[in-house]
Amino acid sequence: MHRERISDDVYVFTSGMYAQVTAGAILTPDGAIVIDTLPFPMETRQVIDYVERRCPGGIRYVIYTHYHADHTYGGYLFRNAQVISHELCRDLLLTRGEAGLQLARQQNASLAEVQLRLPDLVFSGELTLRLGGKTLVLTHSPGHTPDGITVYLKEDKILFAADTVMPVPYIVDGDADAMLKSLARLKTLPLENVVQGHGEIVLRGEISETINSSIGYLNKMQDAVASAMIANQSRDDLIREYDIESCGRSRIALNGLVQQLHAANLITTYDRFSMDKARLSARMRAVRAADKKSGKSAGKTTKTTAAGKSSTTRKSSTTGKSAAARKTAPARKSAGTRRR
Ligand SMILES: [Zn+2]
Repeated sequence: MHRERISDDVYVFTSGMYAQVTAGAILTPDGAIVIDTLPFPMETRQVIDYVERRCPGGIRYVIYTHYHADHTYGGYLFRNAQVISHELCRDLLLTRGEAGLQLARQQNASLAEVQLRLPDLVFSGELTLRLGGKTLVLTHSPGHTPDGITVYLKEDKILFAADTVMPVPYIVDGDADAMLKSLARLKTLPLENVVQGHGEIVLRGEISETINSSIGYLNKMQDAVASAMIANQSRDDLIREYDIESCGRSRIALNGLVQQLHAANLITTYDRFSMDKARLSARMRAVRAADKKSGKSAGKTTKTTAAGKSSTTRKSSTTGKSAAARKTAPARKSAGTRRR
């Protein structure tokens, strides 16, 4: 486990055992707040030891940013703390938690002792928590999951973004459009540091680029799926042709795990578009509009440059198929309204 101090009395713990998942701790004179737990008891115990030794008030609150195992399995170790989450997080733990845990225990002996710890206090929308001179704003931030939240530490301008900000946005258990809205909201906050749910801490100078690149990824990834569907390509073609780098993100983050996450995003989106023609039509129109625009003007602004780049990739990888694809357009045009 790796520990980092990012501000006076604010720490981030990064798992060395599972996907660089993070937990945060805010130490105040009146006690500590821990944001997410680590999946393996051994590492969560290290977090607890470290915080309790420095915080005589003990750990008062644990916040779950969403219900996924890697963020909540350590919850049972915080015996004297109140656990806070979005109300959907409690619902999801109740409906899916036990089955997931049983499976996880079978697969990994180090999880044998884990018990589900349900949240004590839930909210919808937004909750402000004040303790020992610190103000934390907990805000619903769906996209990675329906129950996701972010935690904003006002005094220090630190955002615990959880899985709303990851080395690759991951929407298999969530929704790409919801994620885009959640990411857009983050751009309105004054920020010094962003603690991602997995991976390295994002520093001030990199924050807007990181958020913009997450937004860019989600758009490019969905455009890639629409392009493949316009060209009648299979899921296998889709994965072969549109790797993570073609959607603007690094392939090496999280020790390469991001490539699997990206492939899962593509397949999920392909299946969702197959079920939801309105959404597919809106995306197809956006793809065609971008193609048209990039054909007319050569990137004066950053926006057109990005559109030009992505459409170049698309054209080179689906050469000869776009004419056929355009023929299918009128039939699909009728359904759906544009979301953006
Ligand atoms: Zn997650």
